[in-house]
Amino acid sequence: MMRTAGKVTGDVFKSLAEFIKPGISTMDIDQHVESMIVKAQMIPAFKGYGGFPGSACVSVNEEVVHGIPSKDRILKEGDIVSVDIGTIYKGYYSDAARTFAVGNISKEARELIDRTEESFYAGIALARAGARLGDISHAIQEKAESYGYGVIRDFVGHGIGRNLHEEPPIPNYGKAGKGPRLQEGMVFAIEPMISMGSFETETLLNDWTVVTVDGSLAAHYENTLVIRDGEPELLTL
Ligand code: MG
Repeated sequence: MMRTAGKVTGDVFKSLAEFIKPGISTMDIDQHVESMIVKAQMIPAFKGYGGFPGSACVSVNEEVVHGIPSKDRILKEGDIVSVDIGTIYKGYYSDAARTFAVGNISKEARELIDRTEESFYAGIALARAGARLGDISHAIQEKAESYGYGVIRDFVGHGIGRNLHEEPPIPNYGKAGKGPRLQEGMVFAIEPMISMGSFETETLLNDWTVVTVDGSLAAHYENTLVIRDGEPELLTL
């Protein structure tokens, strides 16, 4: 059921890659996401979660996570936009995020997006039965910091399943060889949030939108995965 939920989430991102362009609003993205999820007869997991108003978190440029969709926020050429979504199928959750380019973006912004994804893959290369959770955290941190980037501390990955957020928290920084041992059948959402500058964040007065304190660009890449036959299987591609 999580595989089925995850497939729809992955399909939404494929569609967004075509949909996102200069001139659309962050609300347009939210509506597109919601209509695809509902059409697939699933439930948007974020809508109403903790009072969040949208089906997608849409975070532009220095916004790290939890951006509230707005019809007044118009994307322009050169922006980067992170979209985080979740689906529920028969009570089981998927959760994933991607960062998209809006039209032509700077070389530095492109590298940030690509390297954030790269740091995710550096982490899940170690997501095998018998490894420690800290092995994943450490590998993500090491890869991201090798580029001089900041690894966001205030928000982390998590277990997932019958709830959106389950134990344990999965930081994108930490020590190898520490933490719980990974076991067959465990399901996680692993989600590096990486900034071009400092890792410090603050939350705007709307109580949701998280931004980098120094205003530097941030990117987000996330998939839900299961440890199956000892190896990671990504459910949200
Ligand atoms: Mg998540």
